[in-house]
Amino acid sequence: MALVCVAGSVNADIVVSVDRLTKPGETISGSRLEYHPGGKGANQALAALRAGADLRFAANVGEDQFAALALSALEAAGAPKEYLRSVGGAPTGVALIRVAADGENDIVVVSGANHAWAADFDAEAFVRGADIVVLQMEVPLEIDSLVLGSARRAGVRTMLNPSPWKPEAMELLPLVDILVLNETEAGLLLGRDVERVTADPKASALRVLAKGPSACVLTLGASGYVTAEAGIVSRFPAFRVLAVDSTAAGDTFAGYLAAGLAGGGSLDNAARVASAAAALCVTRRGAQSSIPTLAETESFLDA
Ligand code: ADP
Repeated sequence: MALVCVAGSVNADIVVSVDRLTKPGETISGSRLEYHPGGKGANQALAALRAGADLRFAANVGEDQFAALALSALEAAGAPKEYLRSVGGAPTGVALIRVAADGENDIVVVSGANHAWAADFDAEAFVRGADIVVLQMEVPLEIDSLVLGSARRAGVRTMLNPSPWKPEAMELLPLVDILVLNETEAGLLLGRDVERVTADPKASALRVLAKGPSACVLTLGASGYVTAEAGIVSRFPAFRVLAVDSTAAGDTFAGYLAAGLAGGGSLDNAARVASAAAALCVTRRGAQSSIPTLAETESFLDA
C-alpha cells in the first residue's frame, strides 16, 4: 500500500456565527458556536487517508481539553498515533473563526503546540519507507526543512503546500519535488499581483517551476487547476458543482494528490481525482467532515 507521511499542524477550530464583525472595543452577541477539528496538516493527512493511502502523521497537541477534539476525525478514521505527541506547557493549536452573516470572516490562529516539536524528533525514521512526504507552513520552518531534507536523503518524493504563505517558503524550494499552491500563494511566490497570475496561469505555473520544484500544481478555485512538469504545462477545468462552502478544498486536493502520486499515478491522473474530491468537498459545509472518501469520489467520477 502507498505510504503518505504528513508532518504538520492540528487545530481545534472554534467557529462563532455573528451578524457582523465587531469594531474595536465593541461587544455583540454570537448566534451559533461550533467546535471542529482542523489544521492544514490534519486536513491533508485525513484527505490522504480517505483517499485510501496508508498514513503516517506527525503532529503535536497540548495537554488540554481541545486535544481530543482536534484529533477526533483522524481518530475516527483510524489514523495511526505513533507520531502524535502531547506536550505540556503549550495549548493545543486553536483557530478562532468569526463568520458574519454576509460570509465575511476573520481568523485568529494560536499555533500553540504546533510550534512545540520535540528536539529529538526523528525525521529520518519518520520518512523511512514512505512513498511521499507532505508539508505545509503551519509548523516551524526548521521542521519542514528537517523532514524535507531527510526525505531527499532517503530518496522519498517531497510535496509542499506553502500555505499559509510565508516568504521563508522560498528557502524550502530546493528540497521540493511537487509544489501545490493556489493563485494567491503563486502571486506571493512570484512577486506578482494575483490578477497577473490568473490572467495567464500556464505561464505562471512555468514561472513557479523555474524556482526549483520538478512539478507544480497551481489551483484556481472554481476555475480549475494547471499542472506543470518537465516543461509540459496543461490547464484543466474544475468539475461543475453547486458550491456551498470552499473550506478545506485546497487541503482535500493536496491530500488526494499526495495519495494518488504515492500510489504510482501520473501527476495529471492524481490531480484529476484530487479535483473531483475537492469538488465534492465544496458541495458540503464544514472542513474535515466534508472531505469525501475514495468510494464517494470514484462514484462522482463515474457519474
Ligand atoms: P485553496 O482552498 O487552497 O484556495 P482552491 O480554492 O484553488 O484552493 O481549490 C482547490 C481545488 O478545489 C481547485 O483547483 C478545484 O479543483 C477545487 N475547487 C475549488 N472550488 C471549487 C468549486 N467552486 N467548484 C469545483 N471545484 C472547486
